[in-house]
Amino acid sequence: MKLYSTNNHNLSVDFPTAVFNSMPLDKGLYMPVDIPVLDKEFIDHIEQYSLPQIAFKVASVLLQDAIPAGDLKAIIDDAINFDAPVVNLAGNDFVLELFHGPSLAFKDFGARFMSRIMGYFLKENEKTLDVLVATSGDTGGAVALGFLGVANTRVTILYPKGKVSDIQELQLCTNGQNIHAIEVEGTFDDCQHLVKQAFADEELNEKLRLTSANSINISRLIPQTFYYFNAYAQLRRQGKKDLVFVVPSGNFGNIAAGLLAYKMGLPVKRFVAATNVNDTVPRFLESGIYETRPSVQTYSNAMDVGAPSNWVRIMDLFNNDKAALEKVMKGYRFTDDETLEAIKAIYNEFDYIACPHTAIAWLALQQYRMDTSDQEFAGVFLSTAHACKFPDVFPEEIKADIEIPEQVKSLAAKPKLATAMDTGFESFKKYLLTSYGNA
Ligand SMILES: *Cc1c(COP(=O)(O)O)cnc(C)c1O
Repeated sequence: MKLYSTNNHNLSVDFPTAVFNSMPLDKGLYMPVDIPVLDKEFIDHIEQYSLPQIAFKVASVLLQDAIPAGDLKAIIDDAINFDAPVVNLAGNDFVLELFHGPSLAFKDFGARFMSRIMGYFLKENEKTLDVLVATSGDTGGAVALGFLGVANTRVTILYPKGKVSDIQELQLCTNGQNIHAIEVEGTFDDCQHLVKQAFADEELNEKLRLTSANSINISRLIPQTFYYFNAYAQLRRQGKKDLVFVVPSGNFGNIAAGLLAYKMGLPVKRFVAATNVNDTVPRFLESGIYETRPSVQTYSNAMDVGAPSNWVRIMDLFNNDKAALEKVMKGYRFTDDETLEAIKAIYNEFDYIACPHTAIAWLALQQYRMDTSDQEFAGVFLSTAHACKFPDVFPEEIKADIEIPEQVKSLAAKPKLATAMDTGFESFKKYLLTSYGNA
């Protein structure tokens, strides 16, 4: 497999290089040079295959010779060891539940696959790989639980004190082993700034082998294609074949993976991007003007992104042709009030509890049905996280009804391990050098 940069199509690097660099020096994003189309035979019989089987097929076709088949199969069976069921909500509305992994969010797919890919390419006796992550909640948990126990890796997570939910904090702080949590007396932006300074620091880069684990890494994107194919397989078993996917979007990695799957031959009628008031993409689709803005805090805080980092990948997939993109993709935005009303409506009408991100996707599906003359499709909206991760958003009677999954109950008994820190870079640097400098 070869990858180029969205800023330079003449660049050509191999898969391990793209994984460990995360981003090319020219600040573009890595994309596959070839996007092979899956054979028709496979697509036509996809309902016969399980999620790990589909994942293996899709990954082998895309990665080509980057990883031998036996090793790739072992990586996938280990990484993709939880389900992504499609649940019928009502009529032709289906919810694709992506929250059955260890951190209860879809980011588990990306983080678990990436951690195992990095572990696989790390040679023995090499320097330990130091993964630095700043998180506002969901990314940190997925990365912590994804890398937990992966040999030759060490993860340092910075999170803003008092600004993540109790369950998110448990997922960050109860791991031990190779996972270290730092509670920063500041905001998410402060955390991100500290990580950026670390990557730019010469001494740290000399003494440690630093890497990031954010959503621009190509090894996080690839596994997210698996569940789109697998959702299609599940719907085919129910006799449906015309699909519209609705994706709650922040950095647009999830929907970029869906569009990549589409380019690989997944039959989909449309993708609908659903955002909160951080609506850079819906505004662009309406006006043709791409204007990023500072992010605004909302109930669906994992989507509070004013400058979506994966957007260039989507434009690249469509050769920067907005008209071609518009044939496949639509965008809608919703406010916090609308989100809350949707959570209540989904609860009252369907006895289902949707997290705020999921509720926005449901709203976008209803809006899309109103805006299109075509009514003959199965609408699949993605549920990106379990409701228990965002308890503060829910009215009391719904909150009381949220079932806490076993993964979380077992964490509650463990001691919280986090290092408190101020926002000064010197403190963070000293921590890294004294904790890891000799190891
Ligand atoms: C990260 C996240 C999103 C946004 O996904 P992108 O790939 O950044 O668009 C949506 N919902 C939840 C729950 C998330 O954690």
